[in-house]
Amino acid sequence: MLAGRRYRLEFDFGQVLIAEKVAGICRSVWNTALEQRREYRRRGAYIGYAQQCAQLAEAKQDFPWLAEAPAQVLQQILKDLDQACRRHGTWKIHWKSRARWKPSFRFPTPTHTPVEKLGRKWGRVFLPKFGWAKFRLSRPLGGRVKSVTICFDGRHWFVSFLIDDGLPEAAEHRLPGTEAGVDRGVVTAATTSEGEFFDRAHVTEHTVSACTPPGEGEPGSAFLSAKEAERYLRLQRRLARTQRGSKRRKKVVASLGKLMGRLRMRRADFNAQTAHRLTRDHATVVLEDLQVTNMTASARGTLERPGRNVAQKSGLNRAILNKGWYGLERALISKARYTGSVIVKVNPTHTSQTCSACTAVDPKSRESQAVFRCTTCGHVEHADVNAAKNIKNRKAAGLVVSGRGDLQAPAGSVKRQAPRSIARGAYPAPRAAA
Ligand SMILES: [Zn+2]
Repeated sequence: MLAGRRYRLEFDFGQVLIAEKVAGICRSVWNTALEQRREYRRRGAYIGYAQQCAQLAEAKQDFPWLAEAPAQVLQQILKDLDQACRRHGTWKIHWKSRARWKPSFRFPTPTHTPVEKLGRKWGRVFLPKFGWAKFRLSRPLGGRVKSVTICFDGRHWFVSFLIDDGLPEAAEHRLPGTEAGVDRGVVTAATTSEGEFFDRAHVTEHTVSACTPPGEGEPGSAFLSAKEAERYLRLQRRLARTQRGSKRRKKVVASLGKLMGRLRMRRADFNAQTAHRLTRDHATVVLEDLQVTNMTASARGTLERPGRNVAQKSGLNRAILNKGWYGLERALISKARYTGSVIVKVNPTHTSQTCSACTAVDPKSRESQAVFRCTTCGHVEHADVNAAKNIKNRKAAGLVVSGRGDLQAPAGSVKRQAPRSIARGAYPAPRAAA
């Protein structure tokens, strides 16, 4: 199975300069090639990957700086653009603006980028034009390298390896019939119908009796401490006062990037751990479909208890949690390949107001952030657990999103089909809906 491994690079000063230069060239190649495609489309014509590649080779004679980036990396940019345009349409593809773009480029041929282990803690990878670059070997590679991606995140350069770990996809879960509904929340990031509470500070497995929530306090505090949330707001205010293109603005943006980078890493770590536990213990994991939530504009998660800056902070935290939710879904789908779990998404409308015992719907049943007390039958439960149970109960009406769901489709499903090479002129297989 394909899997990703990311390590922090220890570029020397010269390599940092090269990386910045290559990233800049990639950005301008993307933008120029996109503009060219649009120009052709305006005239009712079409230009494809092969032609653009040939023109790039010619352009190198007029613009020698193009040759300072590894040739394969630039070809990969054109290939990515081609794929993006085919998938979403030329007019839907965005420019890579200097301010918004997270620098990233890929070496597609593993034979050009050999990887070596240097002792227990360090490894190194050879990158054309860069030479050997050291990286912190925080976990074993555990597979054959298929491609190498260099990216900048927060304030460091990272190397990501796409590897083939050679493991087969799990045919069946070790605990058939086990099911869990998962509710996302503001106080606790994720709660299951079995009464497990997952938060970054304590990914716990304790079964909680009704109405004793773990981790009272600031919403989502586990991902951003109160101090950090305040700092975030302060930086945002400072950013609003700076002028575009100013040195000061650059500084503030860098500080924000550092803070958000830390947050992203925490969130990714949490997602990986939570997904591991959920898929290890449950053959079916039922999630809320976030898109449906957005449409119904659910106000769940608002705090009853007042406090300083609660509206702003919880707004911020909710934004973080919303973003993280997709990450958890992706992590679950990825882990499910190893355990054989099935991931199902359901419509989450009114899950927090519905009684999981008698199915009566009443907003008044939601007594407080933590307590659910049914106005019809008197059923008392932790509000998040009750919501998670409702999510689980809707499993039958849900949408199967994990790879295992393919078993229900006829054999030879397109989902698993490897995309055919675009270089050979064939159209790529449509991507799976998930
Ligand atoms: Zn009830």
